[in-house]
Amino acid sequence: MLTDQFGRPINYLRLAVVDRCNLRCTYCMPESGLTWIKQNELMTDEEMIRICSVFTELGIDKIRITGGEPFVRKNCISLIEKISHLEGLTDLSITTNGLLTHQYVPQLKEFGIKSVNLSLDTLDEERFFNITRRKSFDKVMNTLDALLQHDIKVKINTVVMDGRNIEDIIPLVQLTKELPVDVRFIEEMPFNGNLTEVSLKWNYPMIYQHIKEHFPEIEKIADPKSSTSYNYKIPGFEGDIGIIAAYTRSFCGDCNRIRITPSGMLRNCLYEGGGINVKDKLRSGATDEELKNIIINSIQKKPKDGWEAEKLNTAASSLHQSMATIGG
Ligand code: SAM
Ligand code: SF4
Repeated sequence: MLTDQFGRPINYLRLAVVDRCNLRCTYCMPESGLTWIKQNELMTDEEMIRICSVFTELGIDKIRITGGEPFVRKNCISLIEKISHLEGLTDLSITTNGLLTHQYVPQLKEFGIKSVNLSLDTLDEERFFNITRRKSFDKVMNTLDALLQHDIKVKINTVVMDGRNIEDIIPLVQLTKELPVDVRFIEEMPFNGNLTEVSLKWNYPMIYQHIKEHFPEIEKIADPKSSTSYNYKIPGFEGDIGIIAAYTRSFCGDCNRIRITPSGMLRNCLYEGGGINVKDKLRSGATDEELKNIIINSIQKKPKDGWEAEKLNTAASSLHQSMATIGG
């Protein structure tokens, strides 16, 4: 089992398979001007599978495929299938914007994908366009239907933004009344690829208060270990509600996560600057045993929390990298 210097077990890898995306969510990236990873810097399928296999041998039993938009990667579905066969993996999940996902839902079911996080910030077509800069609302809703039809657990990720989607909070909570979906409201983080600060107005207490005003009967429910969300339920509703204090970082204490970026950087924390590049080590001929040692040593240095990581991060610009290049 991998552990860090604080004795925290690390068993969860978030693998960003590509940095590119078919949306341009305003909180994640600018409309244009981002520098994409060059094709030869992007890990190949074989490299990703080898890295994942090294991680599962080290005790990682949960992998989330993310990006950029995973399904923008060529033949991503076959990469997902190969990862799903790795020994020791008990939980394989995906975070997707849902634009291209619909057609792959039966295969995801077949590969044993237990849960899909679907990003959806609004239930209104026009606001969807204003937030994502693309007219694709119907495609996301089709994916939601297909996932539910195939009995795959759906968590909707909603970034809460002042002046952009506050009117969607209550309708999204309402969605959990009849549908077995969980909705997770996320505080906006500075990872927008823009070098612009985020002045957080809609923080966890404010989001909670807003929901409580409409649903005074809201109840706190247990938060699973290492959960990033504070979880609630409206009695009688099918799905749960979660609030992720992503900006205020109050959940770092029992973090069990690490990230691999599409170019192979190992990031112990979202707010960390540097890190080692496992793809480069692999390309320069490292054996699996050597890779394991490199990974064990790097994870040992995982910072206590996001605040500590930010303090140690001298490359201030990395705090404004697009979430798509780190893997959200
Ligand atoms: N493209 C996929 C999607 O949108 O689901 C996967 C990658 S995306 C970077 C992963 C998650 O990060 C999404 O749920 C998105 O809402 C969230 N995210 C992106 N930028 C964010 C930001 N600045 N603050 C908070 N969450 C953010
Ligand atoms: Fe693309 Fe996801 Fe970023 Fe939106 S949040 S721009 S869908 S990577």
